[in-house]
Amino acid sequence: MPEHVQEAHAPVGFAAPVLPRPVGEPERLKVSIDNNHCELFGLCQQEAPTVFDLGPDGRLRYDANPKAADGPAVRQAARVCPMQAITLREAR
Ligand code: SF4
Repeated sequence: MPEHVQEAHAPVGFAAPVLPRPVGEPERLKVSIDNNHCELFGLCQQEAPTVFDLGPDGRLRYDANPKAADGPAVRQAARVCPMQAITLREAR
């Protein structure tokens, strides 16, 4: 597994806020998932399948440094996550 690919595991912790979209900035984001909060619903994978992958082994893998082109889909994934387990930060 590449170094920037992370795994998430259940169960529950704190929700993190999603940053507002920066005006005029590229959608280059860093992704992290609260392993204590993710309940493996897989909605993130539906919204951004190139970034999130809920495998048949029940583990969620994700690209912590997705391409800028995936930014809108990643933001949507964070919005729809019922556990608000996805934290987004601007990549620097
Ligand atoms: S949508 Fe949220 S709770 Fe569901 S698998 Fe993705 S990060 Fe986990």
